[in-house]
Amino acid sequence: MDETTWCTTTTERFWMLEYIQGRATPRQLRLFGCACVRRVWDLLSDDERLAVERAEHWAEGLTSVVLVPDRVASATEFGSDQPAILALAALRLFEANPAQAVHAATHVIRAQRGGDWRSELARQCDLVRCIFGNPFRTVGEGPWWQSDMVRQIAQAIAGEQRFADLPILADALEDAGCTDCEILTHLRAPGPHARGCWPLDLILGGR
Ligand SMILES: [Zn+2]
Repeated sequence: MDETTWCTTTTERFWMLEYIQGRATPRQLRLFGCACVRRVWDLLSDDERLAVERAEHWAEGLTSVVLVPDRVASATEFGSDQPAILALAALRLFEANPAQAVHAATHVIRAQRGGDWRSELARQCDLVRCIFGNPFRTVGEGPWWQSDMVRQIAQAIAGEQRFADLPILADALEDAGCTDCEILTHLRAPGPHARGCWPLDLILGGR
């Protein structure tokens, strides 16, 4: 894996995750799995949607007691139809080992065999870049992190998951003196973006 591949690949999601293993935090790994399952929200049952929300809260450290919804808890490796595979994807979000939670992404792809799974794989590569940033670059701290306006906008976006407003955050950062291309370009990119989007984490102290 080199930087060009990292920044442009639409197929190498597996190797991207391999490359950052050991550096990725449990929270990031779990949120990546959740983001992939959220991508097929319209295909999920109510129990699976509840599972994603609970897994996100768990990943964020908002709860220490995780109750897996019944239909999700009973998912097995042996189901081969789309509902069974999606239930398994949701179940993966509760793996005790957070590194295993990323396998939810593979089940999401499996569930779309016959459909436009290549496009979905490309979006998963985007989500890796959104949550884990660019491991080939170091982004330094800047005084612009301390701007009240920047923090308020970042908190509003993160709290309400309003990722369409990320370009507004980029504008506020520039107004506060930020010239970091890595951050500004990511915030202005169409995404998809997700919980754990790395510039938001930088500003709000996530990770
Ligand atoms: Zn992002």
